[in-house]
Amino acid sequence: LRVRVEILGVGTELLLGQIANTNARWMSEELAGVGVDVEHHQVVGDNLDRIVAAMALSASRADVVVVTGGLGPTPDDITRDALASLLDTAMVRDPSIEEFLRHRFVELGRPMPEANLRQADVPIGAHVIMPRLGSAPGLVADAAGARLYLLPGVPAEMREMMTSTVLPELAGRAGARIVSRVLRCAEIGESRVAEILDDLFHASANPSVAYLASDGEVKVRLTAKAATDAEATLLIGPLLEAVRARLGDAVFTTADESLEQVVGRRLEEAGRHIAIAESLTGGGVATRLTRVPGASRYFRGAAVVYSAEAKRDVLGVSQATLDGPGAVSEACAREMAGNVRRLFDADVGLSLTGAAGPDAHAGAPAGTVWIGLDAGDERRARGLRVSGGRERVRRLAGLAALDLVRRHLEGRSLPGSDVHA
Ligand code: ATP
Ligand code: MG
Repeated sequence: LRVRVEILGVGTELLLGQIANTNARWMSEELAGVGVDVEHHQVVGDNLDRIVAAMALSASRADVVVVTGGLGPTPDDITRDALASLLDTAMVRDPSIEEFLRHRFVELGRPMPEANLRQADVPIGAHVIMPRLGSAPGLVADAAGARLYLLPGVPAEMREMMTSTVLPELAGRAGARIVSRVLRCAEIGESRVAEILDDLFHASANPSVAYLASDGEVKVRLTAKAATDAEATLLIGPLLEAVRARLGDAVFTTADESLEQVVGRRLEEAGRHIAIAESLTGGGVATRLTRVPGASRYFRGAAVVYSAEAKRDVLGVSQATLDGPGAVSEACAREMAGNVRRLFDADVGLSLTGAAGPDAHAGAPAGTVWIGLDAGDERRARGLRVSGGRERVRRLAGLAALDLVRRHLEGRSLPGSDVHA
């Protein structure tokens, strides 16, 4: 059963560009995940007539309209008034919401402004979605041939209502069970992924293929619809294998795990311990690794050696290396990796050094990154040239470093160096 959905954002601040419509972005992704078709996005300012007109337009062409924003207590929050107008009914105060609101304020230990009771007003014919977060109740109503969901604008409150109420209802309405598998890849660009999967992307509607690049990673989501979970899973199987085979060594998970989870699991399976020497990333790679519960089973520790002196005095990088090739060099990364492995009595030493920018550092242009890996029997160094700002350089360096460890542990080929010392 095809369900056409339209997303309507309410808020003048969206039109003025003061905030980005991240609600629509998040909802679209989630809606695609449950197998409904988002056909339009609309945005309208805080103006009663225009909100009513926008709702009517959305309802005329979609089966379901998800509206966010304007459900708060302030006078510019008029989305519920617009719904009453569209339904051509009056509003009545809902005593259970009133009690809920009063109770909330008692818990907060503050008097409740009477104006807040506006949030207890419900157009006749609409139903209430009680909030678990925040205080704005959501509303559901059938009007103008469509079902309208009115959700709060605050992203966390909107997400909570989408996840608990809207998405399960719509998945059920689409008459389907939805199963998704997410493959995640590192060290491969989105355009390369698109090129590799192009024919699958176009040929396959069920299961469908979608990809999303974020933070230097590319996620590939395969979604299948079927009458049962088992059938949907069966549908995904061959496509999953095809995608995995094509993307090869770049795929680090087929179960939506983070790279640090995968690296941690691989280290633990191999019974090996890692230690890290970080310059460029200032401890960021250790932070990522220790996000995973149980990291102490394989993570020995990290040394943040930011200055040349710390590299020499704490880690024992030779003065000759610092004076010669310099702190941002293959030689320095190799020494750091070997020395940190010995210092922490670990099996694998990992190191990062580089010039995050905006200026050149230690003779290396901004964006130069060297990563070292020393596992005793296997030693590697990898140079990268990362464009973009300081944070991007640091983030992608961290990702590449963790991926270097992952490839080493899985016995996979390494992406080539793109900087030559
Ligand atoms: P409140 O009770 O806070 O008034 P509300 O339901 O009336 O909530 P708005 O007043 O429209 O919602 O928005 C509240 C806040 O939520 C905004 O200041 C904005 O930061 C955020 N917000 C609203 N709409 C969006 C959107 N489409 N995308 C991202 N953020 C949004
Ligand atoms: Mg508001």
